[in-house]
Amino acid sequence: MATITLTVSQQQLEKMYQTYQNQIIKVPNHTLFQAKTSHCTITAYLSKKVVFQGKSPEIEAAKWQSSTTTSSSKKASISSLPETIKTLSAVGCDEVGTGDYFGPLVVCCAYVEQHLIDQLQTMGIKDSKALKDPEICQLASQIETLIPHQVLILPNEKYNKMVDQGMNANAIKAFLHNQALNKLTQSLPTYPNYLIMDEFVNEKKYFEYLKQLPKQPVIVKENLHFIQKGESVHVAVAAASILARASFVKYMNIMSKKLNFDLPKGAGSPVDAAGRQFVKQFGEAKLKELTKWHFANTQKILK
Ligand code: MG
Repeated sequence: MATITLTVSQQQLEKMYQTYQNQIIKVPNHTLFQAKTSHCTITAYLSKKVVFQGKSPEIEAAKWQSSTTTSSSKKASISSLPETIKTLSAVGCDEVGTGDYFGPLVVCCAYVEQHLIDQLQTMGIKDSKALKDPEICQLASQIETLIPHQVLILPNEKYNKMVDQGMNANAIKAFLHNQALNKLTQSLPTYPNYLIMDEFVNEKKYFEYLKQLPKQPVIVKENLHFIQKGESVHVAVAAASILARASFVKYMNIMSKKLNFDLPKGAGSPVDAAGRQFVKQFGEAKLKELTKWHFANTQKILK
């Protein structure tokens, strides 16, 4: 498998997004998108680095190569949190559902007070990616009454509308996180000293997205820190990821029951097979309502 890496300008990055919009397969952290063409997989990082990988990456890379720059400025992100952060009261923020074709985007922020930290750790609260769904739901039911939190679920019908308006997945996440943080911080008796966002995009870009959005009355900024692998920095981030995933699972179960159709998670090839069956049973309009329509799965299902 060959790999070509390019550094592109912001305009080019956005042009790439437009070009590959219908071939997006997922949006990993720190990327604008990951798309798949018949030649290779393209991963476009927000740092403006774009990686082409697969059997013939040169074909896609050549389309962009002539006008790229080779200079790249790398800024190290230095955490401004105190060393004792693990033991201090904090809000944690995380989201799930970004890589799921069926199923909503769910964001959660959760406030864990100092005196509950040990208890949560003993219960086994850790990043939801390290746990199985039944365990997650079990843990979520134990902590949801213990810690103040806000969960926001964005059904794909709304997600697709936002994409049609020109928003990318990271802008949508920023929009939801800001709303959840606003609701949560207003519900607390005092504004927390630390808000920890599991970083999906850097701080500068996050606030740029929020500024571009209309009707955003409050932008929560005070004490907000953007931290990579946030769940290993504070249990509140792990708790948020568990509560988000549990809501996602619940949503999928309810929808599956309602339709009498087992909606699959993720975006792999079993999802394409299920998608084809889904269209046979419910039609294309219903598929659009329930899926992240710009994912490459759509083309594969409908062809
Ligand atoms: Mg995360």
